[in-house]
Amino acid sequence: MKKATPVQINWKPDKNNPVPLYQQIVDYIYQKIFSGDWPVGTRLPSQRALAEQFDVNRSTITSALDELTAFGIIRSGHGAGTLVINNTWGLMLPEFQKWEKYVTSGSFMENNQTIQTINRMEFEENIIRLGTGELDPRIFPKDKWNQVLKNLTPQIQSLGYLGPLGLPELQEALARHLASCGIHTSPSNILVTSGALQALQLISVALLKTGSTVYTEAPSYMKSLQVFQSAGMRLSGVPMDEYGIQYWKLQNKTSLQSGHHSSILYTIPTNQNPTGITMEEGRRQELIDYCVSCQLPIIEDGAYLELCYAQEQPKTLKELDQSGMVIYLGTASKTLAPGLRIGWIVAPEPIVQRLGDVKMQMDYGASSISQWIFAEFLNSGLYGEYLQELKAILLHRRNCALKALQEHFSDLATWRIPKGGFYIWLTFKKELSVEMIFQEALKHRILLNPGDIYGFEKTNSLRLSFSYVTPEEFALAAETLAQVVRHGV
Ligand code: PMP
Repeated sequence: MKKATPVQINWKPDKNNPVPLYQQIVDYIYQKIFSGDWPVGTRLPSQRALAEQFDVNRSTITSALDELTAFGIIRSGHGAGTLVINNTWGLMLPEFQKWEKYVTSGSFMENNQTIQTINRMEFEENIIRLGTGELDPRIFPKDKWNQVLKNLTPQIQSLGYLGPLGLPELQEALARHLASCGIHTSPSNILVTSGALQALQLISVALLKTGSTVYTEAPSYMKSLQVFQSAGMRLSGVPMDEYGIQYWKLQNKTSLQSGHHSSILYTIPTNQNPTGITMEEGRRQELIDYCVSCQLPIIEDGAYLELCYAQEQPKTLKELDQSGMVIYLGTASKTLAPGLRIGWIVAPEPIVQRLGDVKMQMDYGASSISQWIFAEFLNSGLYGEYLQELKAILLHRRNCALKALQEHFSDLATWRIPKGGFYIWLTFKKELSVEMIFQEALKHRILLNPGDIYGFEKTNSLRLSFSYVTPEEFALAAETLAQVVRHGV
């Protein structure tokens, strides 16, 4: 019988992780087998090839394979190489790993390995976070924050549970604030959530059926999450150009008109994560018309709407929508403080009521103190003032970042100029493994977000962020990164 080709692996254990290397390798192989990526019969590369790939000693590989063999999930045969022979967890785990069965049984899927590494590495000392989607703590508006807390102290008499839609003062403040963004709505159409992420979770469990399809830009922040997939939904990527999502390419997607399952479109039209693209106004109207014509509701994620550097923001889909088919999401995370965990949903009342009811069963409301704080930020005018200052800082950082890229990457990669937000989508001219660049950059203490996290197919891109680092840090990291790429990953 012909020997199967060994599986391709483009992962490495993390040498900065306190978990022993052999254990990381065991965990990785477990996960691959258990998730079904490596079915029974899969052949592993030779021990020598594994040692090279994982950049570890042969003895580390032997220990890892011995443990997996003892669990009965792989077998090394003479000449046949190492094969996956079992993927039934119950059979193989010794006493101390009984919890494994539970850990891998829940319906919510785990993050991919790269995202788990990023989430861990972000809190290491002396690491340059060149991919982080968060504001630099050094630009946190401490004076305004102190002022807000001072104003609030006499106002807050208690911190009890709140009603299903959130703190009325915040709903009202948000309605006024949204009007200044062109979204005219009333407080009863606003649900306060624990971040925009919870808004997505609520939608996934309360509005959509298992088996439905969520259409979204390719690439998209959505692809880095398991929220909809964990609720039994399929994500379908729709290509973009410089004007935004190419909605007409949805026409080829057969399930769309079948009416069998409820589908929805999720889009980040303004300062998109991860590409930085802002959908052009004409495209916005066309998208709405198209979605109306095929009865496809839209989730508009406005996480970066308030971070347009120009004075004028583009009209939101919510503003353009005449038929009530757009659910708008916002958050305080990208402009002020993700630790507040404050987001909001703007939607027709029946939707807001339904999601509010589910939210009561999930966490009984977003943090009351955070709601008071954000309401006071809005009502005092300090938020508006701060946004102007913040946008000037981000614009300066963007310009410096573009200069650094021009200096170090002009022969290596291409990129667009974002009109707002945090991100530059850097695409290499030569095909290479962005996962490998991620691993190599880590050795230089640079943390990146490889584009593959967001892509529906393999990408040749990185999502660089200029929000968390100073222009000097960005330039230094860009120079090192260019060397890593040049030295051929
Ligand atoms: N939407 C987008 C587009 C985002 O980039 C993020 C954060 N990365 C979120 C939603 C979630 O933000 P939060 O839950 O902190 O409000």
